[in-house]
Amino acid sequence: MNTRLYINGEWATAADGGEFTTSDPATGTVLATCAEAGPKDVEDAVDAARTALHDPAWATMPPSARARLLWRVADLIEEHKADLAELETRDQGQPLGVAHSVSVNGAAEHFRYFAGWCTKIEGAVSPVSFPDTLHYVRREPVGVCALITPWNFPLMIASWKLAPALACGNTVIIKPAEQTPLTTVRLIELCAEAGFPPGVVNLLTGGPDVGRALVAHPDIDKVSFTGSSSVGREIVQASAGNLKRVTLELGGKAPSVIARDADIDKAVAGNLQGALLNSGQVCAAYTRLYVDRRRADEFTEKLAAAASGLRLGPGLAPDTQIGPLVSQDHLDQVDSYVRTGADQGAELVTGGQRADGPLSSGNFYTPTVFGGVTDDMTIAREEIFGPVLPVLAYDDPEELAARANDTDFGLAASIWTRDLSTAHRLAADIRAGAVFINMLPIPDAAAPWGGYKTSGWGREMGPYALDAYTEIKGVWVHFDT
Ligand code: NAD
Repeated sequence: MNTRLYINGEWATAADGGEFTTSDPATGTVLATCAEAGPKDVEDAVDAARTALHDPAWATMPPSARARLLWRVADLIEEHKADLAELETRDQGQPLGVAHSVSVNGAAEHFRYFAGWCTKIEGAVSPVSFPDTLHYVRREPVGVCALITPWNFPLMIASWKLAPALACGNTVIIKPAEQTPLTTVRLIELCAEAGFPPGVVNLLTGGPDVGRALVAHPDIDKVSFTGSSSVGREIVQASAGNLKRVTLELGGKAPSVIARDADIDKAVAGNLQGALLNSGQVCAAYTRLYVDRRRADEFTEKLAAAASGLRLGPGLAPDTQIGPLVSQDHLDQVDSYVRTGADQGAELVTGGQRADGPLSSGNFYTPTVFGGVTDDMTIAREEIFGPVLPVLAYDDPEELAARANDTDFGLAASIWTRDLSTAHRLAADIRAGAVFINMLPIPDAAAPWGGYKTSGWGREMGPYALDAYTEIKGVWVHFDT
């Protein structure tokens, strides 16, 4: 398979002939050769998006027509859901069931949800105190948006950005992660089929340099980025030239509190899934499990037994529960965290190695549980983004909020308890963008998503995404009497 760039309504190879490959993390087989955008392609895409922003075919398109386009994309995603899910599994590695229920459904739901907003992006009348003066507020598109996405949920995260950006009338250039570009290419094919005017939606595939060129470009008005906190910092600096608008969805190190009164079996099942969805390659994964010391042994034993019983395998195999990690490099990084955990004195209860036997040609890593973890250990502080569950004990519930907040991250948190006051007190005291009580960290198009501290700037989803993709204009009208 060969994939191309999509610029101004045309599919094209890179101007300088650049290419890269993407492979199946379950087998190492090359899946596709993709166009690697170069400087000329970046210029062409930005020009196309700038021109389309003012093209009456888009700029004056009635909101109801924009809504129909977004709805059509959702319909097309559903029509092609089997192919999309399989492609996501091949390129990213996630089990097919996850690709269906999280990635493809999440993508379609986002387009439907934001299709609904197109006709509801209202202004306001402001009660100014000048006499004989009307002041009203318009929400206008920010302009040309660069949308830069990571490799863990490529299709879904592309939709988190494309749907609200287009609903608000912006034009876009999307740059998927170089490890997993294929479902984004397919999604852009579906956008083309839906009938967006040329230049409204553009696609540049390639590596970090393509992202850098977009972020530094003076004719880009906004960057919406999902990825690591370190790249997020680079983006803030590189976008300073024209002070472009920036929203950032970055890393996490979500604490999960398992209170003394928690139903331990439910907490084990919930934390296992909350930590290991997509092999732990989830920004909101539960990765610091704080358990009441009186229940820590029971919890750790049950968690380890459940983790070691999970079936590793290729995402396309029907009985697979845990797929491969996205790349050999990433596996090496996860393994190095595991070694550091053991070196620093954590007790390795299960896992902690690359899978062998028939799975050795893919990037499979055994689900890993550590007991006896303390707050200062690297595995309790840094984002591992893999199938590693550190269990920490606590003695006094009063210490929990401070310990949960003792991190640079603030994306998500979880609380497992039957006691309402424990749940709501901690939910208020933990500094994170989303707190999940007795449930998994799954997003929904209607609920805000984003982080405190180094987990990001701004919010995606819900009406909050409209703030991220619109500028506010105040119009003053004086009545000349
Ligand atoms: P990454 O930061 O390495 O790369 C993300 C994207 O940025 C890729 O498309 C990459 O090509 C591009 N890029 C890299 N360097 C760049 C630069 N200097 N300028 C512009 N673009 C650049 O992240 P990743 O490894 O693909 O993804 C994993 C990270 O993403 C984790 O930290 C995870 O927590 C985070 N993440 C966050 C959320 C969220 O909603 N908060 C969701 C998913 C993933």
